[in-house]
This record gives sequence, C-alpha cells and structure tokens, in this order.
Amino acid sequence: MDNLFNRLLKERTYLLADGAMGTNLFSMGLETGDAPELWNIDYPERIATLGQQFIDAGSDILLTNSFGGTSYRLKLHNAEARVHELNHAAAQIVRQLADASERDIVVAGSMGPTGEILEPTGTLSRENAFTAFKEQAEALQAGGVDVLWIETISDSQEAKVAYQAAATTGLPVVYTMSIDTNGRTMMGVTPAELIQLGAELGTELETAPSACGTNCGVGASEVVAAIINMKTAADEQQFDPVLVAKANCGIPEYVDGKIVYSGTPELMAEYARMVADAGARIIGGCCGTTPMHIAAMADALQDYQARDKPSLEQLERVLGKISTGAKAQLGGDLSVAGGALNGGKARRGSRRGARKTPSTD
Ligand SMILES: [Zn+2]
Repeated sequence: MDNLFNRLLKERTYLLADGAMGTNLFSMGLETGDAPELWNIDYPERIATLGQQFIDAGSDILLTNSFGGTSYRLKLHNAEARVHELNHAAAQIVRQLADASERDIVVAGSMGPTGEILEPTGTLSRENAFTAFKEQAEALQAGGVDVLWIETISDSQEAKVAYQAAATTGLPVVYTMSIDTNGRTMMGVTPAELIQLGAELGTELETAPSACGTNCGVGASEVVAAIINMKTAADEQQFDPVLVAKANCGIPEYVDGKIVYSGTPELMAEYARMVADAGARIIGGCCGTTPMHIAAMADALQDYQARDKPSLEQLERVLGKISTGAKAQLGGDLSVAGGALNGGKARRGSRRGARKTPSTD
C-alpha cells in the first residue's frame, strides 16, 4: 500500500518533525489542567494556526493534538465518551492543512500514555489498555492520519500494547519513549531495551515499527546521547530502525512561577545536526520548541551531510551536561544497571521528570 510516510522515508535523508503541542497551546491561552484535546472542537482554528506555523517553518511531519486522547486520560475531564469525536477532529485539522499544502506533509496521529500503570505493578489490565489504544487509533485513522505516533511512553509493556493496538489499523506505527531518568525512562527502560522491544515487535507481528526513538525528556544533550546508544544497540542486534529524536527545547526552569525552556533557536540548530550525526533520521522538538526553533532546525538540516557521531566532550560542550547513566552507556555499558550509582538524581529535579505522567507534549 502506498503510504506517504513510508515513501518519504525512502526518498529523503531526513524528515523534519514539528515542535511542541502543549507548551505552544499554553501561550495561546490553554490553562494548566485543561485538556488540550477539547480545543479540537472548541478552538480548532488555534490548533490549525499552530500547525500551519510548523508547516511554514519547514516541518514535514505534523503531530495531531491527541496526546491525551485515550479514554483513560479523557476521563479526567469527564470526556471519556468523546474519544472518537476528539481524535477524529484532531486528525481532520491536520489532514486539511496537509491537503492544502504544496509540500508533502505527513499527518501523524499522536498517542500518549494512558496515565495508568499496567498490571501487575498497577491496576490497568492489558486487555483494557489494548481496547483504549485501539479505540483512539481507529478514530485517528478515520480522521485521515498517515501514521500512528505513540510518544512519551515510560513503560515498555505500555509501549508494546499501544503498538499492538495501533498496528491493527494497518497504518505505519512509530513509538518513542521519554528517557528522562539517568539515561532511562522513569520505569527504567534503557535505549538498548527500547531497541530490543522494536526487534521483538517486528518478529511477533511481522510488521516492524516504521521508526522508534525518544522524545521529551531532559534536554537536547540527553536525547543525542540516547540516540547514540540506540544506534549502538541496534547495530549489535542487527535491527536497523529509523531513529526518531524529538528533544525538549533545553531544560525546563521555573521563572516567576512559570515553566520556561532555555533553548535558543541556535541551540536547537546545533542539536538537529548533532542528532543527525548520532544517527537519527526523523528530527523534531518537544516541549518548549516553537515554530521559530523549527525554522532554525530546517536551515541546519538543509542539504546537511551527517558527520561522525559526536564525542562525549563535544556533546557536553555544545549542548550541556549528561547524566552518569547515559555516560556509562556511551562508554559501552548498555545494561540496565550501567551508571546507576550516584546518578539517579542527576536530572530528576525537572518538573517533567518528577511528574507521574505528562498531560501534554
Ligand atoms: Zn515534551
């Protein structure tokens, strides 16, 4: 089946994704605690405006405003009966922008975590999680997405069940996890395990993930380190996925009671090139990344030829310090325990890292 996403992956060296949804909607008037998905019906023109700004900045891939669109997340806003309506609308908004664009634009249906913890650690059954993700995936498909995009996941079991549910649509599926805790996700998944999961899914379902990687987290340098570590693990496992990197725009800081992201367009341009050198082929930004940052990244990647992967020294000098866990992984220890000593709190001070589950991305 001809699919725009698969075709562009074959034709292009890099695909530029978009920037943040949540933080940009906050600057358009979304209040903390509001469900961004409700805006697909209440203020669709605002979602379309942001999407168009990313297209104008050079994004090839646009994510839909449906990160919290499972029934579990929508229940927190008494909107669990509106899964189909809100996800379908999210897809339609971006579909219309893509159809009106002169360039090829991939519409990617964002699927974030349920916010629940799977059994046996938590109470969410695999069956219920599967049903919830499938409901969301089908609504996004009906709304016209080209690819399903599972993001900001911490638990490999949740990534797996979301993937299995998304794959039932027959659409390409991408998954990315948030490596925000000393070179691992909050649930302890390492870059090597993330790659291992992709290889397993490909074997089990006979449809390997179209791409996998990392998003959000604690700054651009950790994301570049994670991509280097994924690439190393992928080479070892002879599984060669397209790697995705959507880094936050620097490190979040509280300034006058507000979350501010420190990254400049220049920093994000440096990140875009370094993460390309590390092996990523789909490159974008997460929290804090505005269309202005994406425009700088588009310039940086225009006709760019990847160099050797950056050294630890280059990485820290240009993009900032990295955690001891990620350092141990860069040093060749891809194990779960690698670098865990003394490093567990290295970057856990961030709001993103400390929160149980993100509500936007
Ligand atoms: Zn984010």
